[in-house]
Amino acid sequence: MKSGYDLIVIGAGPAGLTAAKAAAESGLKVALLERKDTVHEILRMCGMMLVTLSGNYMGERVIHNEEKGLLCFPHCGFSLKYDGPTKDFFSWEIYSPSGEKIVFGDYTSNLQKGKAGRASAVYNKSWFLRGLVEECKHLGVNFFAGENVIRATKDGEGVEVLTSDGKHFKGVFAIAADGRQSRVARSMGLNKNRSFYASITSIGYEMTNLNLPHPHALYQPLVKSGDPPMMGFILPRACDYQGEDVWLVMTSNVDMRADHEAIFEEFTQRSRFADWFKGARKVRKCGCTGNMYAPLFHPFKDNVLFVGDAGWCQEAEMTGAVMSGWKAANTVVHALKEKKYNEEGIQPYLEWWKTYYLEKLDYNVFLKNLYMPILCSDSEIDYLFATIQETLPTVLDPYEVPTHMGRAMAKIIPTIKKGKPALLKKIEKFASFPPHVVLRNTIRAGFHCNFTI
Ligand SMILES: Cc1cc2nc3c(=O)[nH]c(=O)nc-3n(C[C@H](O)[C@H](O)[C@H](O)COP(=O)(O)OP(=O)(O)OC[C@H]3O[C@@H](n4cnc5c(N)ncnc54)[C@H](O)[C@@H]3O)c2cc1C
Repeated sequence: MKSGYDLIVIGAGPAGLTAAKAAAESGLKVALLERKDTVHEILRMCGMMLVTLSGNYMGERVIHNEEKGLLCFPHCGFSLKYDGPTKDFFSWEIYSPSGEKIVFGDYTSNLQKGKAGRASAVYNKSWFLRGLVEECKHLGVNFFAGENVIRATKDGEGVEVLTSDGKHFKGVFAIAADGRQSRVARSMGLNKNRSFYASITSIGYEMTNLNLPHPHALYQPLVKSGDPPMMGFILPRACDYQGEDVWLVMTSNVDMRADHEAIFEEFTQRSRFADWFKGARKVRKCGCTGNMYAPLFHPFKDNVLFVGDAGWCQEAEMTGAVMSGWKAANTVVHALKEKKYNEEGIQPYLEWWKTYYLEKLDYNVFLKNLYMPILCSDSEIDYLFATIQETLPTVLDPYEVPTHMGRAMAKIIPTIKKGKPALLKKIEKFASFPPHVVLRNTIRAGFHCNFTI
């Protein structure tokens, strides 16, 4: 088949860079189009946690080989260069509005175990992307930075990709790795049949001089329940600022119309958690907004494969994104070899997506993280958190956490039945409520971009 490129990759985030690298390693002629001028500049907020160091995630267990500067994906069978800094942390601590907490991992005993006890580590995403860009360039990937892709259309047996300044790129296949707000998915009409759940806006600051109970932990304070609820997050950063430790402090809200700056100020200056921020200094502001749709159940149309967040409900995390980029590129390599320039050729990717993105990540489970603060009041959540006395396993997988919470909750049901029978009725609903019922107000408050351009 005659065409400009074997593969056009749209978006140079973790998924797109991994796809371009894997395809170029197998000898494909690859174009990589990225909207940003400087790929490794992190414009959108990210926690930068490696979610899989202490457990399985999408069937994989990432190994960080610090000596060789590699992130290894042994189950998938590939490695990516990462010789940048990391910082370990040892527990995930979720706080109720009055300060009761549920912990994933015993901080003190995990800390004593060192690396063996860590919940996971944070890394430097900018460093990671820069390393991938270098590798791609070294492998001969044709890099086009500052190119905003607006559309991909079928072109004979292949695909044509159009940018906002009128450039056309022709290829046999394209991989859309343009992230959670995928313009490619939208312009190809793929959002039309996806259920919409929420638009989440997060704003925050990198801050120094925090006074946290445990400096090497991940914090998730539930500042206020309600519909919508108000949530805070605090994560260590892998870098320092003028010799001082840095944390990312953020608040997230599912009402687009809220005054997000005021919410951040309430969390850090007036809430039950304000003491942690006395004397803290803001170093850098960051933020992001993302729409949550049901995932793409069929991430392929007109010779475009969707990878990473571009086809997902919210965030597949860096690790999920690179795995899908790697798998999609290798499937394209195989399809070209077999001269199957169509859906039949990329069947292995569609099967992989079904198993790992739809079954192992189950977006409905993730959505349940939002249920409790919508269904229960502040005092009910305080009561539940105070009643769950056990330390839960050291996990960091947002798709696994609701399961552990559910198990812990099941153990305290006799206590709740006695003390707060009305609350028990609400809890029973957690399991069976369809997301669109619980999240009806977040859906109404969000931006439903159900249109094509
Ligand atoms: C608040 C927040 C915290 C997070 N914390 C973590 C965490 O702690 N750990 C973790 O692993 N993950 C975290 N994530 C998720 C993680 O950032 C994503 O899952 C991951 O980056 C997805 O990679 P991707 O390559 O699919 O998409 P992205 O990283 O979104 O990359 C998409 C790329 O495409 C480019 N692009 C977009 N549109 C176009 C266009 N039209 N034309 C050309 N290029 C385009 C973008 O500029 C970008 O470079 C977090 C996300 C958020 C929002």
